[in-house]
Amino acid sequence: MALLVQKFGGTSVGSLDRIHRVAERVEETVRAGHQVLVVLSAMSGETDRLMRLAHEVTTRPDDRELDVLLSSGERVTIALLAMELRGRGVNARSFTGRQVGIVTNSSHTRARIEKIMASPVQQALAEGVVPVVAGFQGVNERSEVTTLGRGGSDLTAVALAASLKADRCVIFTDVDGVYTADPNIVPDARRIHKLSYEEMLELASLGAKVLQARSVEFAAKYGVPVEVKSSFQEGEGTLVTHEDADMERAVVSGVTGDRNQAKVTVIGVPDRPGIAADLFTAVAGASISVDMIIQNVSQGSLADISFTMPRSDIARALPLMEKAKDELGAQTIEVKDEIAKVSIVGVGMRSHSGVASRMFQTLSREGINIMMISTSEIKISCVLHEKDLNSAIRALHQEFGLGQPVDA
Ligand code: ASP
Ligand code: MG
Repeated sequence: MALLVQKFGGTSVGSLDRIHRVAERVEETVRAGHQVLVVLSAMSGETDRLMRLAHEVTTRPDDRELDVLLSSGERVTIALLAMELRGRGVNARSFTGRQVGIVTNSSHTRARIEKIMASPVQQALAEGVVPVVAGFQGVNERSEVTTLGRGGSDLTAVALAASLKADRCVIFTDVDGVYTADPNIVPDARRIHKLSYEEMLELASLGAKVLQARSVEFAAKYGVPVEVKSSFQEGEGTLVTHEDADMERAVVSGVTGDRNQAKVTVIGVPDRPGIAADLFTAVAGASISVDMIIQNVSQGSLADISFTMPRSDIARALPLMEKAKDELGAQTIEVKDEIAKVSIVGVGMRSHSGVASRMFQTLSREGINIMMISTSEIKISCVLHEKDLNSAIRALHQEFGLGQPVDA
C-alpha cells in the first residue's frame, strides 16, 4: 500500500464528464489498495473568468478581496468530486485550504506557505477517508484567505506530499509529460522519462508551463518524487527526481523558448561605483525580476547597461527606470520587446565541454543573431529576435540529438 497524492489540473476537471473520469481514476487507485489524497484546480478558465469579473468591477481590485474571489473556483471542484466519489461508495471528504491547515504569509495573490498542520487530513486518511483538497489556497495567521500565485495548486499538492511523506506526488494534466521541446514547434520532440529537480526548475522558470516553478523548488527541497502524467490517456509520464547517472548521459535534456521577454538598455550611464546598485534597486523595489545583464563601455567614461525582464512588467518598470535614469544622469532608455530567449538545459553540461560553442555555431549556421548570452552550470540562454525563436529551437533540438531515442 502506498500513500499517493494525485493532483488534477483545470482541464482535467473542466466539465462534469471530466470530473467523472477523475472519480473513476481515484476509485481505481483506492480499490487497488492505496491511500489517496486528491488536490484539485478550479475548472479550466474559471480563475481567469473570476479575475476578469474583478477587473470589470474596478480597475485595481483589492488583493485581499481578490483572494476571497479567486479561491472560490477550487471549492466548486472539490465539492463536486467528493459528491461523485461518495455516490460511488468511496468515502471522500472535501477540505478547503483552511481546513487542511495550510498557513501562509500575508502576501495576498502570491502568498508563501509557512507551515502545514496536516493533522485533519492525516486523521481522515487514518479513518480510510479520501481527502479532496482545494489547491491554490491557504490562510494567513489571522485566518484570512490567501492564494499561492497562478498555477499554485501544484504547490499545494507537492507541499502536502512533503508534509505527509507521501510515496509520490502525481500531477495529472493535459499533456503526458515534459518534452524535449514544445511539440507544436518541434514535431519530433520526445517525452522525457526522467528529469532532475534542477533541470525541471530551469525548464519551468524558462517558460515550460507544465509545473509551477515554486512547486519544483519545494519538491527539490523535501525530496518529493513528482510524476507528470496525462489524465486523458494511460501510460507513463515524466518522473522528476534526484539527479542520477542516467541523466548525465545526455548533454542536453531540453530546449525551451520564452517570448515573454523585453530588453531594456540604459544608454550613457556615468561609469562609477554604485550605479548598477542604484539602477537595479529601483526595479527590485517593485518586485520585478531582472534576468540577463550586460554592461559595456560606450564612449569615454559612459557605459550602456542592458538587461532583460518579463515583457508584462515593462509598463510597471518604465516610470521607475526613467526616474532612476534622471537621478543617475544617464542619457536615454531604449526598450526592445520583439525579443525572445532560447535556452538549452541539461545536467550533462557539467561533464561535457564545448556545449556553448556548439550552441553558438548552430545559431550562426541558421543566420540567427545573438543579442545577449547567459549561462549557469546546467543552462545556456541566448536572447534573439522573436522571429528567429522557432527556427532556433528546431535547430538546437536537432544539433543535440534530442529527436532520437537516447539509447539508440
Ligand atoms: N486555479 C489556479 C490557476 O488557474 C490555480 C491552479 O490551477 O493551479 O492559476
Ligand atoms: Mg497548472
